[in-house]
Amino acid sequence: MSFLIIFARRFVAGEELSEAIPSIKRLNDKGIMTTIDHLGENVTSEEIARAAADSYLEILDIIEREKLNSNVSLKLTQMGLDLGDDFCFSNVERIVEKAYKLNNFVRIDMEGSKYTQRTLDISYRLFEKYGNVGVVIQSMLLRSEDDIKELNKRGIRVRLCKGAYKEPEAIAFQKKEQVNENYIKLMKMLLTEGKYPAIATHDEKIINECKRFVKENKIDSSRFEFQMLYGIRRDLQVSLVKEGYRMRVYVPYGKEWFPYFYRRLRERKENVFFVLRNFFRG
Ligand SMILES: Cc1cc2nc3c(=O)[nH]c(=O)nc-3n(C[C@H](O)[C@H](O)[C@H](O)COP(=O)(O)OP(=O)(O)OC[C@H]3O[C@@H](n4cnc5c(N)ncnc54)[C@H](O)[C@@H]3O)c2cc1C
Repeated sequence: MSFLIIFARRFVAGEELSEAIPSIKRLNDKGIMTTIDHLGENVTSEEIARAAADSYLEILDIIEREKLNSNVSLKLTQMGLDLGDDFCFSNVERIVEKAYKLNNFVRIDMEGSKYTQRTLDISYRLFEKYGNVGVVIQSMLLRSEDDIKELNKRGIRVRLCKGAYKEPEAIAFQKKEQVNENYIKLMKMLLTEGKYPAIATHDEKIINECKRFVKENKIDSSRFEFQMLYGIRRDLQVSLVKEGYRMRVYVPYGKEWFPYFYRRLRERKENVFFVLRNFFRG
């Protein structure tokens, strides 16, 4: 599998944080903010979960020391959600508390639907105590409109994405057009009533609709940000900054890159062809 890292490097900034830092600095130099993700999910031991949290404490120190324009993103199953909610909470709390002291921010990524409610509940608890926590909502889920209403009411920052996990018909839109339509509806709810939302997509049609909507409703570009993934639509990342929009790139690094890489391949068949074509070329 090790040959795959060559292809994964398009989406992953390195296996070590030290490898990712130059990429982060290059993005910052272009006026692009970042959010750093130390890859990992579904850990099965408390020791590994604690070590994952420790790595985020180090990331926060490095952000401060290197003066990076960055916050952090993490997954609760990396922090031990499968081992119990209270264990996970106390593990993430160490990160949120440190980020709070450093005046930084922690985004809690959203994983598959079996974790949605528990992820929101833990995020609510952390938000009430510290305030510097935001969540992610997926437009593919039928429940998301209600979740956004609740999050807007509580004043919690939301990153809106389409959703990267395969979900059953009973709880999720299956057609791309439905997911996109719901995305636009939720995006408008966030832009008008939400707290500093993050519009996380590479979909130009949606981005253009966002630009049109904020202009029409006189929503200042300082009231929201666009977000994209490392290595995807770099041209658009730069052009949006040039147009005066705020842009943040999600920069993942770490040795546990395979599940993340797999999701990026699954999203776009051209990526799979790219890997296969290069593999068979030898
Ligand atoms: C900052 C950020 C954070 C995210 N966090 C989460 C999260 O916490 N939970 C979660 O479930 N999902 C998350 N996602 C992933 C998201 O749910 C989608 O799976 C992903 O962004 C692809 O959807 P899209 O909006 O770009 O639209 P799509 O319709 O999939 O793509 C639109 C266009 O973007 C480009 N593009 C999209 N994906 C790729 C790719 N893999 N390779 C090359 N080009 C591509 C292509 O030009 C494509 O035509 C996040 C996405 C972003 C940008």
